[in-house]
Amino acid sequence: MTDTTTPGMVIVGAGHCGGRAAQALREAGWTGSIHLIGMERHLPYERPPLSKELLTGEKTAGACQLRSAQALIDDDVRLHTQRVSALDTTRRCITLANGQVLPYHRLLLATGGSARCLDIPGADLPEVLTLRTVDDALLLSQRLGTGRRLLVVGGGFIGLEVAASARRAGMAVTLVEGARRLLGRAVPADIAAGAQALHQAHGVDLRLGVLPTAIVPRQPGGVRVQLNDGSQVDADTVLVGIGMKPATALARTAGLTVAQGIVVDAALRTSAPEVFAAGDVAEFPGPLSGQPMRQETWFNAETQARVAAHNMVGGHEVVHQPPWFWSDQYDHQLQVCGEPAMGTHTVVRELGGGDRIAFHLDAQERLVGMSAWGLAPRCLKEVKLARLLVERRINARPADLHDLAVKLKALAAGTAVLT
Ligand SMILES: Cc1cc2nc3c(=O)[nH]c(=O)nc-3n(C[C@H](O)[C@H](O)[C@H](O)COP(=O)(O)OP(=O)(O)OC[C@H]3O[C@@H](n4cnc5c(N)ncnc54)[C@H](O)[C@@H]3O)c2cc1C
Repeated sequence: MTDTTTPGMVIVGAGHCGGRAAQALREAGWTGSIHLIGMERHLPYERPPLSKELLTGEKTAGACQLRSAQALIDDDVRLHTQRVSALDTTRRCITLANGQVLPYHRLLLATGGSARCLDIPGADLPEVLTLRTVDDALLLSQRLGTGRRLLVVGGGFIGLEVAASARRAGMAVTLVEGARRLLGRAVPADIAAGAQALHQAHGVDLRLGVLPTAIVPRQPGGVRVQLNDGSQVDADTVLVGIGMKPATALARTAGLTVAQGIVVDAALRTSAPEVFAAGDVAEFPGPLSGQPMRQETWFNAETQARVAAHNMVGGHEVVHQPPWFWSDQYDHQLQVCGEPAMGTHTVVRELGGGDRIAFHLDAQERLVGMSAWGLAPRCLKEVKLARLLVERRINARPADLHDLAVKLKALAAGTAVLT
């Protein structure tokens, strides 16, 4: 029986980061109680398949689980399916929606966030969906199918991945994006152009520089979406992929410092004693730039969970790995590593067949990031090496990064021959 009166480790948010942190606490030697509290009715799971394999039927919801139920039992992690409604940093306790109060020795806030919704008439119609949870994905998957029409709002990662999955399911797909290009500013324009060409080649009707203004129901089913260029699109389902809102309310109400996310230092400590935050919700100093940033990525959830757990048991670790994420679309993969926003210029390494790596360099010609796009099996080895260069903070000459004759492996090992 888990003790609920002696202060133990309490984790709010049973997503990827919270679930992994519970595991890492045991691995770090914590023998006291661990309470993992989440609002979803599922065991902690990984979200990347929700826009990909879960929609295409290549994975089941169960296969997305982070760990088995038995692993949680073996680790004596007490999972509460509840919303945490209050945090009291003076009394060092949290209150669950059912009124139960749990004192903490150390607290981790891993509350992630929720999908942003459209703020236009008709946005609440049942045909209009968002995608954040496994239940969202299961609902969306029921709407996919040959001959049906999907309108995706938003040309970011989730919108593009869903568009690709829906085309594979035989749907007619239109995608509208308010900007004149895809993928925002997180990815260089030429890589975004590669993604655009691929989606068009797969038959996605891309409408750039337009926004939806209203959604109205149609008989006998579906909706008509009005766009601000005067055109309209009929669809059976609308998927809104316009980003997420970090779940900061609990922290804000408790008086913690909150900006774009819950503000933490490099060791993931918040402004309140014994309270840590990690994952999508945490705003932390960028490992290369020191600039405050939030990362909504699998890698960030995974690595920050471990750093937070280590420090909750008295360790002194900091987040030092450069950010990294991937996005799968059709048979192509996009990867970004480091902090491309620090770059003042890029050097492109053309790998052939349209595959490319853009190395981002700062004014001192230091490598601060890389963005890559290409056919997945063909380019992955090169991209892995490019990532290694960023992780190892290798200072390579721009000409060498561009030149296929200079092997990235040699640059990573520091054995490239300088001429
Ligand atoms: C569809 C989709 C596809 C993705 N694909 C990729 C990809 O290809 N590559 C990549 O790198 N990343 C991808 N990501 C991002 C990655 O999955 C997230 O960064 C990661 O899930 C963040 O984990 P987290 O634990 O911080 O937050 P979450 O996974 O959001 O978990 C937070 C949990 O906290 C719970 N919670 C919040 N508030 C409370 C409260 N008050 N009380 C109790 N519980 C609470 C929430 O219900 C939620 O379950 C994808 C994300 C989505 C949604």
